[in-house]
Amino acid sequence: MAKAEKFLLAGVMGWPVMHSRSPLMHNYWLKQQGLAGTYVPLAIEPKDLAEALRALRPLGFAGCNLTIPHKLEAMKIVDRVDDVATKIGAISCVVVQPDGSLFGTNNDWLGFIGNLKQQVPDWRADAGPIAVIGAGGGARAVCYGLMQEGAKEIRLVNRTRDKAERIAEEFGGPIKVLPWEQRHDALDGVGTVVNTTSQGMVGLPALDLQLDMLPRSALATDIIYTPLESPFLAAARERGNRTVNGLGMLLHQGKPAWRLWFGVEPEVTPELREMMERSILADL
Ligand code: NAP
Repeated sequence: MAKAEKFLLAGVMGWPVMHSRSPLMHNYWLKQQGLAGTYVPLAIEPKDLAEALRALRPLGFAGCNLTIPHKLEAMKIVDRVDDVATKIGAISCVVVQPDGSLFGTNNDWLGFIGNLKQQVPDWRADAGPIAVIGAGGGARAVCYGLMQEGAKEIRLVNRTRDKAERIAEEFGGPIKVLPWEQRHDALDGVGTVVNTTSQGMVGLPALDLQLDMLPRSALATDIIYTPLESPFLAAARERGNRTVNGLGMLLHQGKPAWRLWFGVEPEVTPELREMMERSILADL
């Protein structure tokens, strides 16, 4: 058997990090592509982030993903941050360049949009107003992606209104901020509603959102994937809305990372999705 030219290395830096499902996904792809390599969880304390990122090159890593709490701090450390990550305000992916410098970008928006397009091929961002609930890091990537896809009206609602106002100021365009008290009415006539808050995650209360005004034709989507079906998605499904959970956002942001690290884009296959779902269900 021919010897592989190089043992491919990538990983995810976080603190804590052992809960991350990224290694399962990337190691599936390495095997599927017949490549010698591994993707590892890297438990990096915040104080060690700069040293850890600088060590990627000498250790032979192609790059890494970043998760909580490193996504913002890494922007100050890498040598170049692209316009997308600057706008979203966080780095999700670091790439070691051929000259050894570190490049930071954000693929979360590609994950969000790629998932919707795979799960609901006829979904269109410009099909009607879109309600986005929440204005944290996830919401910034979601709003960016929706705008790239041509959304004409985004109704942004957040418990802390200032954060939503900041996104509207920075992103401009179709974002309209509504007060938290009007979140139920914000669903009137929308084509899509997205939960980007942490409400509904395992161990947290459900999102307090009444769906009476939501058209039955609308798509309801959540970026949460633990549980696989949040109470918000369950309520939407029970009244007849199409729903998409957040697992695919995680899966689809891995594809552009692979292109940047290894020069190939693997597929999000039903087998990969099922394997990830099984792993999540086993932990609940
Ligand atoms: P974040 O930046 O901390 O933002 C949290 C959001 O939740 C804020 O809008 C916050 O509102 C809202 N929130 C928190 N507690 C609330 C409450 N009691 N009532 C109403 N709103 C509340 O977090 P994030 O990074 O955006 O992550 C949010 C969720 O998305 C998490 O479940 C995360 O796992 C998930 N996520 C998934 C993916 C994926 O790939 N699928 C990617 C990123 C994030 P305030 O501003 O008022 O605090």
